Amino acid sequence: MKDAFGRSIEYLRISVTDRCNFRCLYCMPEEGLQWLPRSEILSYEEIAEVVTQLAPLGLRRVRLTGGEPTIRPELEKLVALLRAIPGIEDIALSTNGSRFPEHAPRLKAAGLDRVNISVDSLRPGRVRDIARRTVTTPPVDALLAAEHAGLSPIKVNVVVMRGINDDEVVDLARLTLEHAWHVRFIELMPVGDMRGATWEHVVPSEEILDRLSALGALTPCAGPARGNGPAVYHRYSGAPGTVGVITPMTHTYCASCNRVRLTADGRLRTCLFGDAEVNLRDALRAGKPLEPLFVRALEEKPKEHALLQMQVGGLQALSQVGG
Ligand code: SAM
Ligand code: SF4
Repeated sequence: MKDAFGRSIEYLRISVTDRCNFRCLYCMPEEGLQWLPRSEILSYEEIAEVVTQLAPLGLRRVRLTGGEPTIRPELEKLVALLRAIPGIEDIALSTNGSRFPEHAPRLKAAGLDRVNISVDSLRPGRVRDIARRTVTTPPVDALLAAEHAGLSPIKVNVVVMRGINDDEVVDLARLTLEHAWHVRFIELMPVGDMRGATWEHVVPSEEILDRLSALGALTPCAGPARGNGPAVYHRYSGAPGTVGVITPMTHTYCASCNRVRLTADGRLRTCLFGDAEVNLRDALRAGKPLEPLFVRALEEKPKEHALLQMQVGGLQALSQVGG
């Protein structure tokens, strides 16, 4: 399954809901967004049908994301449906962790392989200030719950914002000295509610790595065995975990992009930034095959996005497109 530029597409990010129990500074407005009506959201059976039709075309890996996927009831039922689809080798989840300790054993039992947990701070007051909601689960508890459930690898996503949480990068990196966790520092993208943010809030990856070296020498290394996203990894001597940087603002990795996205209302988007999409839901509900739509979507997948050249203020929040 290749697109017009020869890129193999084998990875689908599935947004299971556009809603969220957080209102992260960099993602959603404090008052929330215009939520999709329930009738427009794909059912778990419909999502599984999309994956069933794409697997013979080469789809191998899926990630459940959102919004916050764990607020959709009985998420484990979707995991079990996906696990039963021949050809799907890897099922991952992205979560803010707030409900993860209660969900982790059920999700693992249903067939979840691994998890990415967003942790922007280790300080309770700051966690609340960034999420703009009361957060009762300490982020480390969510990570430990993932570890106890046997999910692996465990990745930690940190959106670095200058003047907001950039003074914690070393504390977060220190987690990798004790645990086999992969802490990835993401350059802030000024989209959604952060559209007003300018470069002054972005901490370039070179600066992040420079600050991380205060904790010890870093050696470039391969990333965790599963998942081959855009992160570049390093390791402290003897550490079980790794630190990584994800650089949407200072480098583009469009040339090796292997992913497409399914929105909660059934649109297949071939680029995070840009309007390229096809509506799978209507075809699905009309009983039509999805393959022709998928082939068309791949033909139209843009060569690269133009985040840095665009009027970024008009871009959607990542929660709306399954970031
Ligand atoms: N709610 C889940 C979570 O927070 O992990 C999954 C959805 S969230 C949209 C997926 C990822 O997008 C998170 O790691 C989040 O930190 C990241 N993200 C959202 N807005 C971002 C932005 N403006 N810049 C960089 N990363 C962003
Ligand atoms: Fe919710 Fe995740 Fe967006 Fe935060 S980043 S508001 S947790 S969807």
